[in-house]
Formats: sequence, C-alpha cells, structure tokens
Amino acid sequence: MPVKRAEKTPMPVRDAHERAQDFREVNQGYTEVHAAFEAERCLRCQEPICVDGCPVQIPIPDFIHAVAIGDMAGAAKILRTANPLPAICGRVCPQESQCEAECSMTQHFDPVAIGHLERFVADWERTQPPPVEAKITRKEEIAVIGAGPSGLVCAGELARLGYPVTIYEALHAPGGVLRYGIPEFRLPKAILDWEIGLLKAMGVKIVCNVIIGRTLTLDDLLEKHGYAAVFIGTGAGLPQFLGIPGENLNGVMSANEFLTRINLMRAYEFPEADTPVRVGKRVAVIGAGNTAMDAVRTSLRMQADEAMIVYRRSEKEMGARLEEYHHAIEEGVKFNWLTNPLEILGNADGWVGGLKCQKMTLGERDASGRARPIPVPESEFVIPVDNVILAIGTTPNPLLTRTTAGLLTTKKGCLVADETTGLTSRARVFAGGDAVTGAATVILAAGAGKRAALAIKEALLN
Ligand code: FAD
Repeated sequence: MPVKRAEKTPMPVRDAHERAQDFREVNQGYTEVHAAFEAERCLRCQEPICVDGCPVQIPIPDFIHAVAIGDMAGAAKILRTANPLPAICGRVCPQESQCEAECSMTQHFDPVAIGHLERFVADWERTQPPPVEAKITRKEEIAVIGAGPSGLVCAGELARLGYPVTIYEALHAPGGVLRYGIPEFRLPKAILDWEIGLLKAMGVKIVCNVIIGRTLTLDDLLEKHGYAAVFIGTGAGLPQFLGIPGENLNGVMSANEFLTRINLMRAYEFPEADTPVRVGKRVAVIGAGNTAMDAVRTSLRMQADEAMIVYRRSEKEMGARLEEYHHAIEEGVKFNWLTNPLEILGNADGWVGGLKCQKMTLGERDASGRARPIPVPESEFVIPVDNVILAIGTTPNPLLTRTTAGLLTTKKGCLVADETTGLTSRARVFAGGDAVTGAATVILAAGAGKRAALAIKEALLN
C-alpha cells in the first residue's frame, strides 16, 4: 500500500485581515487537484467506522473513491442519496466530532478531510443541470411546519417518495437558522437558495409568512385543509438570558436577534435597508458555541474595534466547530476563558458601559458532562464594553404547543417524539430537529426530517 500523507490537504482560505472586513465566504473550496490529492489519503477501510460517525450514514469511502478516480457524477449521486443538503453540511457540520473523529487515519495522522471533500463534490454538482425532477404520484397531501433543515429535508424526502408537500414558514424566507443564523461568510445564501430551488423543482411548495399557532392552527391543517399528516420542524429559536442585572440596557441583545437583523434584514446596509443595529467599538459575546463564534466574528465585520468571547468554562469545553474557532483567532477575536459575567453596567445614557465578571476555576463534571465552573473568591473585575451579545443557548418557542391540544413536551419545552419515527403524542403529527432535541446540529435535524418522512410514508400506507 502506498504511504499516506500525514497532513490534511489544507482548505484555501481568504486572508484573515481582508475577510474580517466583509461578509464574503472565508473558505474558498478545494480545486480538483486538492480534492484528488486528499481523496487519495482515504484508506478505504474494510469496516469504515467513519460512516458510523455520520448521523445520516453517508457511504463515505465510496464517495471518496469516486472522487479519487475522477467520477464526480458518481460521487455526487452517492452523497445526495444519503444527505439531501451536501453543499450545506460540507460547510457547517462539526466533522471533527463526527465522521472525521472516527477516521482510522487519526490513530497516527490527520483524519481525511471528509467535510472538505463533501463540499467539493456538492459544489461541482451545482455546476451541473439540477439532479432532481418532480414525480408526484400520491394523493395524500402533507404539511410541514418550519423551513429549517429538518422541515426542508422531510419535505424533500416526501416529494421524492411521490407525496405533494407544502411547507409553512413563519418568516419571509425559508431556511431557518441556515438563513437567519449562520452568516454569509460561512454559508452563502446562494448555496441555500440552490438547495431550496432543488426542493421546489421536486414539487415542494413553500408558503412564507404563515405562523402556525397564529395565522392557522395545527388542527386547521389537519381538519380544515385536510392534510393527511403534519411534520413539525419549528426549531429552538427562543433565546435564553442570564438573569443578571443590566440585561435590559440598550446595547444588550441575544445573538439570535443580532444575527437575524444582520442576515435577514440586511442591517449591515442600514439606512438603505430598514433595520438598524448599533455595534459599538467593543463587543463582548457571552458563550462559546457556534452561535457565539458567529456573533463575535460578525461584530468585527460590523466594524467593532475589539470583539471578544466571555466564557465561564475553558477552551476545552467550548462547543464551537474547531475551524470557526481557529478562524476567529486569526481574525483577531479575543478570548476570556474561565470568566463569568455577574452584571452588565450602564453608562449615564442608559447604554452598556461595562461587563462586571469574576474569574472561575474548573471542578468535577456536572450533569452536562463538562467540568463545572467554580467562582474564584475576590476575583471580580470590569471589562469596558459597548455591547453585550448573549449566546448562551435557546429553547423551542412554546407558541405551537400552547395552541395545540394533546401535544406533549418535556420539562425543557421540547416536543416528545419517538426517536426513530418522530411520531408525537398526537396521531398523524410527527416532529424532528431542534424542536425535539433542543439546540443541536444541522445534520441531526436533517436526519430526523428524513426518518420522519419514511415513517409518514409507512403510516399512510397502513
Ligand atoms: P431551524 O433551523 O431553527 O428552523 C425552524 C424554522 O421553523 C424556522 O425557519 C422558523 O422560522 C420556523 N418556525 C418556527 N415556529 C414556526 C411556526 N409556529 N410556524 C411556522 N414556522 C415556524 N449547526 C451545525 O451543524 N453547524 C453549525 O456550524 C451551526 N452553526 C449555528 C450557528 C447559529 C448562529 C445557530 C443559531 C445555530 C447553528 N447550528 C449549527 C445549529 C443548527 O443550525 C440547528 O441545529 C438547525 O438549524 C436546526 O434545524 P431545525 O430545522 O430543527 O430548526
């Protein structure tokens, strides 16, 4: 067997200083030469455990082999059969804790860059005629609530199985977090639009500006509109707050609000666009997950002089994708580890003036499985800041469950649904994605949407 190269073929990226000034995509994607070079590193293991690390079980060695022999159409077909959102997942999946964590190469070397190769193949596919067509063969109509990855994938799978599907989306554009949360510099809207265009080409209808629970109820969909089944993919979009003094000051925002204003309402173009967002010279973002990393890097692009993460645990417990963390460091983001916010301090005008914090140390693991942060006595200090952005987690919005009888939820407000089928406590009503799991990942939401589509088909056939 030829000797394999130890290092991953690096992803070409834009210069850190230049890219931190605009919203254009940071990663530039592999060329064909990079892709062939990287695909050669795959060991094509007899028992490919990387596949077990993928929530939608992409036959990884098969698609990588197709890349290695230059069969891009074959690679794209293998990918799309398992994952209906490859161009998106190739960009945003946390591969380092999923497929790449299981790669046999990691015993001695870097894992194969599975995510970069997935993106390469999906981007190649975008240069080809659309790989789908509408084949609606069934009579029973299905409604999907929410056009995030779980709803989009569920609708796509149902359409592939021949069912007419309509997605009802509360916002004025489909995509869920892929549109209003993840910034353009990580996931260009053109990529999302292309994937959504494919769903429409398959016959999926998307109706925006309809809030189920307000405009229509879930029971209206089943009874008045006569849908045979409903899939709920409403996500977990309700931001959590810290409950510390000063959270009502001007200049404090949830990361959801901040990113939505910028992504969906083009606040970066104010006053040409209607929605403003005021970003001061110094911005503190509380939290260290993907949302926090997106908010802090967006602050730099909104011309903050200093943008920092404040996190009560250490770098080791951080939830963000490793690539985003490295990109944030390169772009000049500062990191205050083991730092717990106690109070947001105001200035004379009622705006944020500072963030009072205390230093922390780490103790035993807590219920989350991570080391518990413990306050260090007499370690309080103030960081001067103009904005505080909270990215400490989200929960499902209770609107739908409050307006639908018999829809059971957990203590945390997540929908109770069967792990395999997504069936909720109501007959003919299925659910998946963040609405069931709480804030998680794109691929887990996509996987849940796909499984529910198959379960809906089974339920309708019986
Ligand atoms: P969502 O994407 O939240 O979509 C739900 C949709 O339902 C929304 O469009 C919403 O408007 C709509 N809706 C809600 N209520 C109603 C209603 N009553 N009626 C009609 N429509 C309704 N994951 C990764 O894997 N990698 C990443 O890099 C990553 N980065 C992230 C960055 C940010 C800023 C955030 C917030 C999350 C990130 N995630 C990431 C998590 C990932 O985006 C989510 O896990 C995923 O989008 C969940 O998909 P979903 O379909 O369940 O819900």
